[in-house]
Formats: sequence, structure tokens, C-alpha cells
Amino acid sequence: MSESSRTAPPKVIAVANQKGGVGKTTTAINLATALAAIGQRVVVLDLDPQGNASTGLGVSRADRRATSYDVLVDERPLQDALIDTDVPGLAIIPSDENLSGAELELSDAPRRSYRLRHAIDRFRRTLSGMGEHCDYILIDCPPSLNLLTVNAMTAADSVLVPLQTEFFALEGLTQLMRTIDLVRGNLNKTLEIQGVVLTMYDRRNNLSSQVAADVREHFGDKVYKTVIPRNVRVSEAPSFGKPVLLYDLECAGAQAYLKLASEVVKQERRAADALTPA
Ligand code: ADP
Ligand code: MG
Repeated sequence: MSESSRTAPPKVIAVANQKGGVGKTTTAINLATALAAIGQRVVVLDLDPQGNASTGLGVSRADRRATSYDVLVDERPLQDALIDTDVPGLAIIPSDENLSGAELELSDAPRRSYRLRHAIDRFRRTLSGMGEHCDYILIDCPPSLNLLTVNAMTAADSVLVPLQTEFFALEGLTQLMRTIDLVRGNLNKTLEIQGVVLTMYDRRNNLSSQVAADVREHFGDKVYKTVIPRNVRVSEAPSFGKPVLLYDLECAGAQAYLKLASEVVKQERRAADALTPA
């Protein structure tokens, strides 16, 4: 497909880090909700067989008519799997445990790394054909650098990396960066790093500020100014099937995700301005 349709909205962001428990799903759900709250139209695409993003956005198993598995393996159109959430402007493509078999099922499939990209390209064309639009697709990746994550990176415009603010934060990032480089070299040459977001930051702990300083030294201005604090309301919200912004809008976690969303939108506007001739 042509480069111009590639750069048409939605902006596709893969939320990835092969470490589990670093805040990928929490960031995908809550950044998406915060983007919707400030007027963006957003889709979360759950690409983790654990389906935590789906559950965390209140989508029960019974509601999941079609899933990201059907999109990848059976080439079902994305819109068949799309479900509205309680957040205006936010929809989700759910997943379930079937997705854990996708890697094996696709092992002989031609162009198996491009499955998601093709689905999203078709979705873009369908949306514009219907005169509709979507600003962002956030892909919640599994905790592994497997074919699912490679599909996400091949489909994406950029990668957003959540890092847990702890002693081993930077460990494993070499592999993640190497995977991004490989995808860039072979599958998606325009893939960018959207940014690095520090999660579960504990301001009473000196280690958190030390780790944050190390990460900023390593990634420079790729690291968002907004840090997501460790906040019990953030961890409680998914058990109510709600993003933290619906569960407790005033809490520090919800407010941090709102700030992060406005940083992301400003970043996009700056990028768009840079492309517009003066
Ligand atoms: P991943 O998707 O990377 O595996 P999760 O987003 O599921 O990570 O987060 C791992 C755990 O940490 C979850 O139980 C989640 O509720 C909790 N968690 C994530 N972010 C925060 C936060 N800012 N404050 C408190 N708990 C958090
Ligand atoms: Mg997760």
C-alpha cells in the first residue's frame, strides 16, 4: 500500500515490553481512556491471550463475539470484533486464550508477520469509506517477543515502552531494542519509538528517583515528563472492569494518565506541524 495511506489516521501504537508486570495493560487501558476523555477516538487492540485489557475494560467473555485471534488467524475484519466500552469514544478488540495457539497455527502461513498490518490497513480503508475516523489504536502486547508482538510492531507506527521504576528497569531492553531494529530492517522500516513511560513510581523511595534519572540518561527526551505513580486505585480498578479514570477520577493515577494523554497528543501535533510546509 502507498505511504500516504499508511500515515493516515489512526496512529497505531504498540505498547510493548517483553517483561511481564511492568504496566503495559494498565497503560494501554488508561492511556486509551484518557485520550478518549480529551476527545480522541480510540481503539484498544488486546493482543495478549490473557485478555487482561478486555476484562479491565469491562468486556465479559460472553460479549466477545470475535477476537483478535479471529482477526489474525481467520482474517476476520477488525470491525467484526469491535466492541464499544462504557467510555465514550473508546472501543476494544478483545482477545481470549485461543490467541495463545495463534503462533503455532500461523507458523506456515505466508507473510505471517503482516497479518495484523493487513487487518489494520483494511480497517483504515473501511473507516474512510464510511466517512468515519479513529485517531489512535493502542495494541496491548503480550509479555514476550513472539510472533504476536512482531505482528504488532509490523502494524504499528510506533512503540510505547512502559518501564517499571525499579532496580531492574533497564534489564532486557537490549533485546526489545534489537527486536525493534529487526522489525525496522525487515518488516516496517518507518517504525518509531513513541516514548518511554515510567510506571509504578514511588516518590517516597529514593530508588525510584535514581532509576528515573538512569532511564532519562539512557533515553533522553524519549522519556515522557509524566511519570505514573504507584497508586492502589490503579490496581483496584480492573477488578471492577473499569479504567481508573471511571473508577476514581481524582486519584493520582487517573490524573497522571490524563497528563500522559495530553503529552502524547501534543507530541503528535508537533510531529504534524513539522510535516506541514510553513
Ligand atoms: P503488564 O501488562 O506489563 O503485565 P500490568 O499492567 O498488568 O502489567 O500491571 C501489573 C500489575 O501491576 C497489575 O496488577 C496492575 O494492577 C499493577 N499496576 C500497574 N500499574 C500500577 C500503578 N501505577 N500503581 C499500582 N499498581 C499498578
Ligand atoms: Mg498485560
